[in-house]
Order: sequence, then C-alpha cells, then structure tokens
Amino acid sequence: MSTSTPPHVLVSGGGIAGNALALQLVRSGIRVTVAERAPAPRPGGQSVDLRGASREVAERMGLMPGIRRRQLDERGIAYVNGRGRVYGRMSMEDFDGKGAVAEIEIARGDLNQVLLDELDAASVAAPGLVDLRYGEHLTALEQDAEGVDATFASGRVERFDLVVGADGVHSKTRRLAFGPEEDFATYLGGYTAFFSMPTPADAQPGWFALRAVPGAAIGIRPGADPATSMAILTLRVDRDPSLRGDRAAQEALIRRAVRGSGWHEEAILEAMGSAEDFYFDELDRIDVPEPVSGRIALLGDAASCGSPLSGMGTATALIGAYLLAGEIAATPADPSGALQRYASALAPFAEAGKVLPGGGIGFMVPASRAVALLSQATMRVMLSRPFRPLIKRMFNEESATLALPEIRALANTTAS
Ligand SMILES: Cc1cc2nc3c(=O)[nH]c(=O)nc-3n(C[C@H](O)[C@H](O)[C@H](O)COP(=O)(O)OP(=O)(O)OC[C@H]3O[C@@H](n4cnc5c(N)ncnc54)[C@H](O)[C@@H]3O)c2cc1C
Repeated sequence: MSTSTPPHVLVSGGGIAGNALALQLVRSGIRVTVAERAPAPRPGGQSVDLRGASREVAERMGLMPGIRRRQLDERGIAYVNGRGRVYGRMSMEDFDGKGAVAEIEIARGDLNQVLLDELDAASVAAPGLVDLRYGEHLTALEQDAEGVDATFASGRVERFDLVVGADGVHSKTRRLAFGPEEDFATYLGGYTAFFSMPTPADAQPGWFALRAVPGAAIGIRPGADPATSMAILTLRVDRDPSLRGDRAAQEALIRRAVRGSGWHEEAILEAMGSAEDFYFDELDRIDVPEPVSGRIALLGDAASCGSPLSGMGTATALIGAYLLAGEIAATPADPSGALQRYASALAPFAEAGKVLPGGGIGFMVPASRAVALLSQATMRVMLSRPFRPLIKRMFNEESATLALPEIRALANTTAS
C-alpha cells in the first residue's frame, strides 16, 4: 500500500475516543472508517467531567458551543444519611471546579452526540472521507510492513494503513493484537452500575446526592431532563467473572447491596428492573505499557484507564484522540512513526488519568458499619474550609498541571 497518499485509518469503536479521533482526522483530510459494535450510537451514561487539558482539547476542537448547549447544571455533591439529611457538601464553586464535580459536566451520551454532529458537518464539507459502520466489529487483524488486513464479523476483509482500537475497557482490538485482557487489567475491588430513574420529590436541583452504606455507595445524580435522574451504584465486592453479561445476577447483587440502606431504596430498585439504559461493569484499571504495535494503536480506555472511579476516562480519551490525530496528520506518509510519537506523548496523561481520588474504592465505599459512621464524621471535617486545598489535591492534581502540546498539523484547531 502506498504511503505517499493520506492513510486510510480504521477505528474500532465509536465511543468518545473513536469519534473524537475520527472527527479530527476527517477535518485534516484523512479517510476514516469507524466500526461500532452497537447497532446505533450508544446513548446514556452519567455525567463525565472535562477538566485541565481535556477542556483545552474541547476548545481547540471547537466543541465548546455544542457542549455548552448540553452542559448539565451540576452544583456539587451532597453527602446524605439514611433519612436523606445532608451532612456534608462539596460544591463546585467552593472547590473551584476541582472537586468531585468539575466546572464542565455533560452526560456521556450527549458528548458523544456533540462529536457525531460535528462529524456530520465535517463529512458534508469533505464528502467521502468518513464511513461510520454500526453493528460491525473486527474478528481478525493481520499486519505486515505496508498495512493491516482487517476481517469483520460481516465477512468483509479490507486493508487499512492504520488500525486504532478505541473499543473500551474490554477491547477486542487489544485482544487480537496485544494479548489477553488478563495481561492488562487489574481488578479495583468492585463493580459500578447506573441507570435512569424518576427524580425523587425531595431531590435538590443540581445536587448529586450520595449515601455510603457498608459495601456500597448509592448516588442519585441529576440528568439533563429535571424529571429524570441517574442512579449510580458502586459496590465493594470480590470479583465474580460469572457476573459478566448476566443481568439477572447483576441485579441480584445490587438488590442485596441496596436493601436496608433506607434511602430511596424502593424507587431505585423499581427503576432498575425496567431500565433500558442499565449499565454494569467491573471496576478495572487498564495498563498497556506500549499501546502501539507496528501499525496498530490503542486509544482511550482500551489503552489506559483508572475505571470510572478516576473520573478521568473521558478526559484522557479526548486528549489521546487529539494527540494521535495530530501525529498522523503531521506525518501522513509515515504512519508507524506517528504512532510511536503518539505513544510517547500520551504516556504522562495516561499515567495521570489512572490516579484514583482518595486512593480507590475504600475512600468511597466503607467496608463495615463502624467505618461508615467514622467516614461520615471524617467527611464533615474534610469538607470544611480549612481542608478544601487537601480535597482539591486528591482530585487529579497531577493531570491538572500537564500542559497540552501545541499541534499545528491539525486543520481543525480552533479557539472558541
Ligand atoms: C454506554 C456507556 C456508558 C458509559 N457511562 C459512563 C459513566 O457514566 N461514567 C464514566 O465514568 N464512564 C462511563 N463510560 C465509560 C466512558 O465512556 C469511558 O471511560 C471514556 O469516555 C473513554 O471512552 P472510550 O471511547 O475509550 O470507551 P467507551 O466509552 O467504552 O467506548 C467504546 C466503544 O466501543 C464499542 N465497542 C466495544 N467493543 C467493540 C468491538 N469489539 N468492536 C467495535 N466497537 C466496540 C462500544 O460499544 C463503545 O461505543 C460509559 C461507556 C459506555 C459505552
């Protein structure tokens, strides 16, 4: 395959990472095929944070007007007891957007839609450069010095100059080209689940209410529509591989954890039973020391993440997509070199994105009733004014200080 013409890039996975990469490549005149396993763009997800360098990426990509239109009105976290009484608050303003709630919060599905709208506009401006395929996924990859042969579930076999695996924590691309998931995943001690529920009558608009009970943190977080909230559960349990793909078993686990919590228990469990956007996954850290192999690269959660506990998955995905697109656009005739430079540029952001506030699940989910009571008392103190600088440092101080390199090769770079 000739390398003197712009490369044709295959992106496996049309989530935040894959769509952000596709958008920037298309705007730079590079042909992209995105293969997304789901039959349509996946909606849902709770709100995700944009902070530090990821906010800068969103600005440079010209995404801010779309983000602002869909931005959530989140004012902070309210820690509640079993009667729903607030015993501590972490407001966005008091913590300058550097606490658990960032200055920019947007539902994950809405951010994905912002990217897809921009991708639509870019493909009108440059017809024929983007091919979005839903309900399609890779079954085999074979590369040589000139390109990569990709076999799809539909039976198609095609050759690409580069392949990027942006297919999430359980990446198939990683399995095909780098090795089994066990080589890269570390269990972080629990599971997370979220799904939509009717907003309770006593909810305070804009406040993410959180109740910690032994073995579980139960949250109700505001959504874009005031009538609907997102139930968010973090469960502290041993790993059970049989839970994967078994919704009945997942729901049973949640029921056991929530029963007896005494706070909107029935409403949460009733909503769970009928939720169409029910999401459940184990909390895994992903470390791929070298996320590039010849002409195949990993991006987003597939390459590196600290699970939703880090609050940094989307931020790191956007930054990675920007760095990778920039390197491919800078040397379209040397795609392998571009991937190598991407891997080096990504490394510090990937490391910072894995840091867990408070050290991990133990900070958020008490192991026993005694610890739950103690952490209530501690939280009250830690949220008081003198301790705020300490809390801010816990929420990704490292990533906040990393500067985003200037990338002149990207045609789309916009200040907005
Ligand atoms: C539906 C959904 C809801 C989420 N909600 C939250 C949330 O509330 N909070 C949070 O912190 N994080 C959430 N996440 C994870 C979060 O989106 C990521 O951590 C972050 O945005 C990085 O994105 P990513 O594109 O690397 O991975 P992901 O967002 O996981 O996207 C990967 C994409 O690849 C697709 N895919 C998977 N396997 C294949 C395959 N074999 N072939 C082709 N495509 C494939 C998936 O359908 C998905 O669209 C959610 C992810 C999804 C998919």
